[in-house]
Amino acid sequence: MSGIIEKYKTYLPLVNDEIIISLGEGNTPLVRLLNLEKKVGRSLRIYAKVEGANPTGSFKDRGMTLAMSNAVAKNAPAVICASTGNTSAAAAAYAAKAGLKAFVIIPEGKIAMGKLMQAYIYGAMVIQIKGNFDQGLTIVKEIASNESITLVNSLNPYRIPGQQTAAYEIVDQLQLAPDYHFLPIGNGGNTTAYWQGYETYRNAGKYHKSPQIFACQAENAAPFVEGHFVDKPETIATAIRIGKPAYWQQSNIAIEASEGRFLACSDACIIKAQQMLAAQEGIFCEPASAASIAGLLKAIENNFVQEGTTIVCTLTGNGLKDTQLVEQHLDFQLNSVSPSLDAVRKIIEQAI
Ligand SMILES: *Cc1c(COP(=O)(O)O)cnc(C)c1O
Repeated sequence: MSGIIEKYKTYLPLVNDEIIISLGEGNTPLVRLLNLEKKVGRSLRIYAKVEGANPTGSFKDRGMTLAMSNAVAKNAPAVICASTGNTSAAAAAYAAKAGLKAFVIIPEGKIAMGKLMQAYIYGAMVIQIKGNFDQGLTIVKEIASNESITLVNSLNPYRIPGQQTAAYEIVDQLQLAPDYHFLPIGNGGNTTAYWQGYETYRNAGKYHKSPQIFACQAENAAPFVEGHFVDKPETIATAIRIGKPAYWQQSNIAIEASEGRFLACSDACIIKAQQMLAAQEGIFCEPASAASIAGLLKAIENNFVQEGTTIVCTLTGNGLKDTQLVEQHLDFQLNSVSPSLDAVRKIIEQAI
């Protein structure tokens, strides 16, 4: 299976086009959310770009295939990143494929268990700090500037062009540009990538207007909404628990140029959106990803979205990475019954 580099080569900066480190990323489903459309009761076409279907379960794979291919082409001996989880999983997997050593710095206690286990099983060296993501990023930037180790955070110049391919795919799948694009925002790398991706396609003559970008944060980790950095960001959506976004300026440009908005939603709304997507659309995304749906619902409520339009929401990562959170917030009871036809039948009859 070919990945995004094979498919979108002409749009991607490749140091050596014979060296491609790929796990078959990209080509993720664009699913129409018909039940959600019915629920909101407007004439909107709403789609989810299901990025949890990527090889390591998040969109980070799109940037990582390009970053890793070019690191190998430049003979880098190792890669390093700070991560809220998904970047470390992707870095570890692509480094494994490339035969490079990966170092990942993670904030103690603030990373979903599934993501941590991914980093370990792919063979990365995991370094946990008693601090947050922002502090970790400061450290790895310093290390990468002095050593030959390659930084594979979104500051790596190849991550954003790789992630732009998600915008190309959406347009290729829809055969048009959506009117609105909703996505969660942490560091802002992906917001920057989508905007630049849509603009690249617009400049290639594929359409006249790129979508308005709506970037969604969690209420207590909302530096973009507040207009300044936040010292102690807090949210259950750990992938967007970021107070000092690295792509501050570029993200502000993307929102302004696209005539979009930054939005903040409460953790409660994010969890509700996550559960609704799973129970009504059959898509299990991680909490941070559900911020895009929570944001859309808020935007519809506030009349930021016009009737008759097409909307795409990026679901950035796979819900299976963080089942602990589901356990904490989903009201469920699991009692055992006797292994008899009668006992099982009785329960089914009561439920129907
Ligand atoms: C990385 C990540 C984000 C945030 O993306 P940025 O580029 O940092 O804005 C959102 N959701 C998930 C699942 C992520 O892994």
